[in-house]
Amino acid sequence: MWAAPVLVDVVLARSTQHAGSLSPVSDDSTNKPLSIPSPPRVLAAVISAASGPEASIPRLAELVGSDPAFAVQVLKIVNSSLYSRGSKITSIDRAVSVLGTRALRNVALCAATTSCVRDRELGDFDLGRFWEDSVRRAVVGQILASRDKGYGVAPMEAFTVGLLQDIGLLALIKTHPELGGDWMEVVDQSAEARREREIDMFGQSHDEAGAALAEGWELPEELAVPMCYHHNPDKAPEPLRGACVLNHRAELIASVFTCADRGAALTRARRELHDGAGMSEGDVDQLINETSDRVKEAASTLGFDVGAQPSLEEILVQVNRGLSEMNLSYEEVVKQLEQALAEKETLTRELEARNRMLEQLSVTDALTGLPNRRAFWGRLAYDLGRTSRGGALVLFVGDVDHFKRVNDTWGHEYGDKVLQAISLALGKAVREQDLVARVGGEEFAILLPGTDRPGGHVVAKKLLSSVASTSVEDDKGEPHRFTISLGMATAVGPYTGKFDSDELAKRLYKAADAALYAAKRSGRNRAVESERAVGWTPPVAAALKVAKAS
Ligand code: GH3
Ligand code: MG
Ligand code: MG
Repeated sequence: MWAAPVLVDVVLARSTQHAGSLSPVSDDSTNKPLSIPSPPRVLAAVISAASGPEASIPRLAELVGSDPAFAVQVLKIVNSSLYSRGSKITSIDRAVSVLGTRALRNVALCAATTSCVRDRELGDFDLGRFWEDSVRRAVVGQILASRDKGYGVAPMEAFTVGLLQDIGLLALIKTHPELGGDWMEVVDQSAEARREREIDMFGQSHDEAGAALAEGWELPEELAVPMCYHHNPDKAPEPLRGACVLNHRAELIASVFTCADRGAALTRARRELHDGAGMSEGDVDQLINETSDRVKEAASTLGFDVGAQPSLEEILVQVNRGLSEMNLSYEEVVKQLEQALAEKETLTRELEARNRMLEQLSVTDALTGLPNRRAFWGRLAYDLGRTSRGGALVLFVGDVDHFKRVNDTWGHEYGDKVLQAISLALGKAVREQDLVARVGGEEFAILLPGTDRPGGHVVAKKLLSSVASTSVEDDKGEPHRFTISLGMATAVGPYTGKFDSDELAKRLYKAADAALYAAKRSGRNRAVESERAVGWTPPVAAALKVAKAS
């Protein structure tokens, strides 16, 4: 005999093992004893009378007849395609003798299980959906058993086991109705994924709970063993292993109808039934279509109303739609990625432009738009470097004359306008490659690369006259003219010794600044050249020369 108590031990051991682990259920709820519904009285009597060794047809017929609803169901089943006898059977006696004790017991069981659990006891669990899935497994099991005697299971028996296969789940949900809705979240997943979730939620799986239920109802082992081992047929006791394999395969085929990923479920069913049962792809597809045709009727025989089942063709349409949605979402992702890249490029370009602008700002004087002090020093060192092998460079340092008075007389704002006008005037007096920079309040530096002393003298005059000829109107429209004083110094290459352009720049500037001081002291509105042309080593002596503006 099959050792049911051992299975109950397994259930208890599992419960302990999983209590308080991943389970969202509180410790005491995983330890809650399984609530096993008892079958209605008449059905229980039929099951017991049909299972016993001295089962008699008249006694069974009498029992069936004592429950009119059950009697109607028995007649419905015996006349349905589940049995597909030729002539219609209308009497209970006849029905019972046509069915035989074992089949009657199965019919009683199906009736008992489908009537002993009520919807309202299961929280948000969808009982209608459960029975629809169960009937689907039952139908597939029945078809498989009728096609292949190798499983060693009668088709009606396979139907019964298929129907009861997951009944343990009802016991689990009945014990924890508050988790009924949570379980529904996995209803469209593979059988393995659902089972894992049950262990997480309840501390045990439906097959384990099913074993306890089979024991409680004293089910014979040909029904109890597949209920318990359909997830692990390899571990099933040998004589009933075929039945467990059959139920496992029935589950695979039924999944094709329910799995969220129907494509994967179909591929798996085709592969496993090919490898395990030698069925061709066409055989499997036909099995699916046959299942689709029979489920509705089988369900109605058991008193359920289920919707039309999709054919394989319809399932494939769904699979393809899923694939094209995946494709679509792939294209969508690529599009978003391209968009993000384009945005990134735009941002990078904007950032570069901003950086250029910042850099520009950092070297530009805000009032006059001329290069500022920083830009000037950089350019001076660079130009001096270029003269290191030969050639000359002229530097003027300029300072507006009596500028304080300008501000004092016409206001600071007017002073700003004057500074802007003088900037333009200085710019006009030099070549494009020359540099005019604002290096202080009313101080400018003018750099003439590739220019020697005589060239510098010419430019000095131009600068002085350009400024002197510029007039700026005050707010009464009155024009005023201004002058500037310039100090000039020339650097002459080539340089000998270890060359330091910054150092030379400082020396050159200092010389020009000293000359500017001399220009101021000697009366303003003029250029004074530094006493010496500045070289690197040794400094070349040069005569002081004063060039007065004309
Ligand atoms: P000098 O001929 O000896 O150079 O006499 P100065 O009055 O020009 O010399 P000083 O250095 O005494 O005065 C410079 C003035 O320039 C003082 C300051 O208020 C003015 N100044 C400096 N920067 C600006 C500016 O950006 N805008 C205006 N409006 N005035 C400025
Ligand atoms: Mg000054
Ligand atoms: Mg001044």
